[in-house]
Amino acid sequence: MRVGVLGAGQLGQMLALAGRRLGVESRFLAPDPKSPAGMCAELIVADYDNQAALAHFVEGIDVVTYEFENIPLETVTQLAVNSPIRPSVQALETAQDRALEKQCFERLGIPTARSAAASTLAEARAALEMVGRPAVLKTRRHGYDGKGQSVVRERSDLERAWVTVAGAASIIESFVNFKRELSIIAVRSLSGDIEFYPLIENHHSEGILRFSIAPAQNVSTELQTQAEQYARRILEELDYVGVLAVEFFETADGLLANEMAPRVHNSGHWTIEGADTSQFENHLRAVTGMELGPTEVHGVSGMVNVIGFEPNVARLREIPSVHVHMYGKTPAPRRKLGHITVTADDIEGVVRAVSQVRAVLAHK
Ligand code: AMP
Repeated sequence: MRVGVLGAGQLGQMLALAGRRLGVESRFLAPDPKSPAGMCAELIVADYDNQAALAHFVEGIDVVTYEFENIPLETVTQLAVNSPIRPSVQALETAQDRALEKQCFERLGIPTARSAAASTLAEARAALEMVGRPAVLKTRRHGYDGKGQSVVRERSDLERAWVTVAGAASIIESFVNFKRELSIIAVRSLSGDIEFYPLIENHHSEGILRFSIAPAQNVSTELQTQAEQYARRILEELDYVGVLAVEFFETADGLLANEMAPRVHNSGHWTIEGADTSQFENHLRAVTGMELGPTEVHGVSGMVNVIGFEPNVARLREIPSVHVHMYGKTPAPRRKLGHITVTADDIEGVVRAVSQVRAVLAHK
């Protein structure tokens, strides 16, 4: 089987590595010649609308997938004429636009923070009145790792916030006082089978995921089932094939869906060592029409992102049960350069190892 992947970042790199173990070949297309996936598989360096490159990209490919949700919809729609696209074009379209994503959650009865769309400052003012304060202004498109977001506490904050999003079409969403952030990774096969990994606890700062613990602790069966039901509704509604991540806020009133990612997800990186089948392998199994692999988890895993600076890998290696994944990217502020997974029999062991890892990463 040959899979064509649009986008070629670290998610693509880990897909390529999983593919090698499955006997699935991958070919990537992305504009940056230094894209991490290009270190592990064929990379076509071109813009997403380069017609000659797209023709070359699909040659001999069985299925097209993506590892980045900001691929132009026109590219995917065009490729869908002659190649299967998994997950569906509709899934990509929904996840690309926060307003469509919110509508999807609401249509499916999935609780989510109150929100209203705004394309002008006047509309943003009206939206703020409707949603209430504090609120968060978020661009509808192209926001990631906290980019294109601004908290609005006072009415007078709105104008400054509107400047930070540069007047882009946005949504205003009520600020959620959450207990913690959780995510679920789900996968649906071509024949409609669905598997879930356990809920993951995620810790962000400045809008960037810093570390995750999996399985999240103190999760009742009801909470896990609730998250699975919500993810299942999305998978079935969008005729979804592949891995889907749904991010939630856990509140006193239960789960509120924050957003979804139509792809393998940073909060699922621990599945490489911590689960019977990784999210990367299961994504490839799904999109190539194979049966899904088991998602059983052994012990507890912690995943810490390496952000901005090259870490002292020798010191990291001294920590027991540590697994270092560096993506080969050039360091830059706020850039995800790698991740570290630790595994242990119990939560105490993981918490200890995660703090050791974070202590090493704090020494630049
Ligand atoms: P997002 O890009 O929507 O995932 O937002 C990035 C991070 O900002 C989230 O993981 C939260 O930590 C925080 N955040 C986003 N939206 C809200 C909200 N409505 N209320 C409180 N915190 C938020």
